[in-house]
Amino acid sequence: MEFIDLKAQYQALKPQIQARIDAVLEHGQYIMGPEVKELEGKLAAFTGAKHCITVASGTEALLMSLMALDVKPGDEIITTPFTFVATAEMIVLLGAIPVFVDVEPDTGNINANLIEAAITPRTKAIMPVSLYGQTADMDAINAIAAKHGNLPVIEDAAQSFGATYKGRQSCNLSTIGCTSFFPSKPLGCYGDGGAIFTNDDALAQAMREIRVHGQSQRYVHTRIGVGGRMDTLQCAITLAKFERFAWEVEQRKEIGQRYTDQLLSLQDPRSDSPETIEVLTIRPERTSVYAQYTVMVPQREAVQKRLSVAGIPTAVHYPVPLNEQPAYKHLCCPECTPVAKGMAKRVMSLPMHTSLTVEDQMRVLGVMLEADSTDNQIELIVQ
Ligand SMILES: *Cc1c(COP(=O)(O)O)cnc(C)c1O
Repeated sequence: MEFIDLKAQYQALKPQIQARIDAVLEHGQYIMGPEVKELEGKLAAFTGAKHCITVASGTEALLMSLMALDVKPGDEIITTPFTFVATAEMIVLLGAIPVFVDVEPDTGNINANLIEAAITPRTKAIMPVSLYGQTADMDAINAIAAKHGNLPVIEDAAQSFGATYKGRQSCNLSTIGCTSFFPSKPLGCYGDGGAIFTNDDALAQAMREIRVHGQSQRYVHTRIGVGGRMDTLQCAITLAKFERFAWEVEQRKEIGQRYTDQLLSLQDPRSDSPETIEVLTIRPERTSVYAQYTVMVPQREAVQKRLSVAGIPTAVHYPVPLNEQPAYKHLCCPECTPVAKGMAKRVMSLPMHTSLTVEDQMRVLGVMLEADSTDNQIELIVQ
């Protein structure tokens, strides 16, 4: 069984992908070719954001957003310690300070109720992460930001392109949304890629300049920038994949919901046994694209080993909160974020992709719960 299945997805889209690649090879505009604008137009329309700026990666999207907001050494950015390292890394790269706020125990997302206490006169922005494909409580975060001098809010939406919050699309929920097209993300290209979304004309202009070395006109470098473009071939591949993205999002939701429903029914929900595997909550006002399907397992190593022996791959997102990592631990004591600390010890992600069958899912759950998969109980629930 595959953890993610990019080969099956390629087989399903092969003619479209090949045609798109061929078109680029024929016209030869490998940098900023027509596919770049075409993709930006389609993604902007999908999210409802006024501007989409494709960039070299999700990491670069975060860096360029912070640069556009003029983040300087000593500035504080409020974020979560329970995320992929890039979120805090780009803050530190600019000499700014990530201020880690603890997460919600049922979603793993930054806890909006704890943000206000972390705001100081040096706070420059708030950077929530939409973990595992579900956004944080963005309206609550935006309200806090508005109250404190209109602080900008950057959504690290690297895992949540296609998710919604109160019916609105992730990436278009705050000042800036940043996503990634790393191959394993919900919408992935065949290399590195990413995009930034905003409704703010001035920020969009700044980020377009930052993308090409701060250039406002040819050889006029108005500001400091980076080499941050997404290449035409990757945009072309993403365009082909985007054609069935809406269908994939629906599939992912169905598969994620099935894992949850089955886990809840296979285990006695009233049981407080230390062996009980906990599901994460998708809050009613949000939909997840399940970038990962993640559960909380008390005996993680033993369960991972059992699954591995049965040929079922798992992963841990993330085993160590950032404030316990060697390069970051001086910034905040891990005891300040006890929920993140506890979750990092228990989270485990299961295979998640659109070619996963109901039988695959039942086998994963059977092995994980140490049930015999021929057990009547499991057979019954499948039907
Ligand atoms: C993947 C990811 C990134 C980085 O994206 P890349 O395209 O790999 O640079 C940033 N933040 C989060 C939360 C991610 O999951």
